[in-house]
Amino acid sequence: MPNVVTRFAPSPTGFLHIGGARTALFNLLYARNTGGKFILRIEDTDQERSTPEAVRAILDGMTWLGITWDEGPHFQMERMELYRKEAERLLRDGKAYRCVCTKEELDARREEMAARKEKPRYDGRCRDLASGATEGKPSVLRFKTPRAGQTVVRDLLRGDVVYENAELDDLVFLRTDGSPTYNFVVVVDDASMGITHVLRGDDHLNNTPKQILLYEALGYPLPRFGHFPLIHGMEGGKLSKRQDDVSVTAYREKGFLPEAMVNYLVRLGWGHGDQEIFSMVEMQDLFSLEHVGKSPSKFNLDKLLHLNAYYIKMAEPSLLANLLVPFLAKRGIDTKPSPWLTAAVRTLLERSRTLEEMAESAEYYFRPKPAEPSVASKFLTPEIAPVLREIADAFSVLEDFKAEREDALKAVVERRGGNLKVHQPIRVALTGGTASPGLFEVMEILGRDEVVRRLRSAAGRIGA
Ligand code: GLU
Repeated sequence: MPNVVTRFAPSPTGFLHIGGARTALFNLLYARNTGGKFILRIEDTDQERSTPEAVRAILDGMTWLGITWDEGPHFQMERMELYRKEAERLLRDGKAYRCVCTKEELDARREEMAARKEKPRYDGRCRDLASGATEGKPSVLRFKTPRAGQTVVRDLLRGDVVYENAELDDLVFLRTDGSPTYNFVVVVDDASMGITHVLRGDDHLNNTPKQILLYEALGYPLPRFGHFPLIHGMEGGKLSKRQDDVSVTAYREKGFLPEAMVNYLVRLGWGHGDQEIFSMVEMQDLFSLEHVGKSPSKFNLDKLLHLNAYYIKMAEPSLLANLLVPFLAKRGIDTKPSPWLTAAVRTLLERSRTLEEMAESAEYYFRPKPAEPSVASKFLTPEIAPVLREIADAFSVLEDFKAEREDALKAVVERRGGNLKVHQPIRVALTGGTASPGLFEVMEILGRDEVVRRLRSAAGRIGA
């Protein structure tokens, strides 16, 4: 068996889709697991829909996820000479023919077939034209699909899928303008790049018999094929743009960590017992096609959030602080990584599912956040105002805030009879809300003077 070579072959017509990222990941993992090679190929022959921004988005998305390739990116637009050469070879060998049917003729015939309730297909009328008959006319090249027999896709995941050749059309593989079509270039590329395993989404399964026939006609050795079940959206049905966020970039911008993303992606269709957490190295060691599921997997945002919360908790706080800076900037908070920011992050690790949530919580470390009226009226009552002032006064003279604040607070409570509920009002005064990290942790981040300021300002607002 030759060394495994896999590939990811996205068309750069938009962002990197979650489904595409999973395909890329599975190809990477299969190659790594078998000691093989993983190639990236950009399928940009559709010049109208391909954009350099989409190429960037794909490369950036893969790099961010840690899906690194060993070779490429190859660009199909740079390989036109090869496709032309192979197209001519098919024609020369009598395995293809020039078709001069015009679009109007084809449309009319298709309508007739539809009216007769037949499956619309090319009727093959140019197949046996004498070569002189097409001269000087605009033409496409069509593949002479065998009229009889069967083509079997021996799929690594779904077993044998049998196609009747009579059901397959005579594929156009070179358009009038000389540009080659998908099914043809993909075969020439996969063969010339030595791809041994073509692993891709189920949506390409029906292309595979056409590609197999082209492999045979071109005399290329056949790779193995495997088609992954699709990913369904949270509402069921195909993962669509409308229902769910489907681009990798969208998740990055929401503050998901790449480790959580790849861990989530690998679990969309693959499993290893009931293990949920996988590092990239573990995935590479454990991945196998046998354990890729046969039915579609469902995208589940809660699971992804759960994993992200886990990776945030496990991450190095100083690293998270770096990652948090742009999320704070989006909220108008201009700051730089610092030991102080790292300390602030440490207080929020356990309570943030995304960096966006963390940035939202961190806001009160940077600027006072007034409490919602309903919260204020419940906790910042007229009776509590003098207490907050007294605490502020007591704090304001502390030399060692960290060591002395807890006792100072206790002393105020004692003086006032001992059964005052001050923690929640203080929390609301300091953070504007009723949920936050431990009160003294928050005080540590804010520092003595800011704590004093906020307590006084909250007390001041109560009377007003
Ligand atoms: N370029 C194709 C796509 O983006 C993939 C082709 C393949 O994997 O064979 O859907």
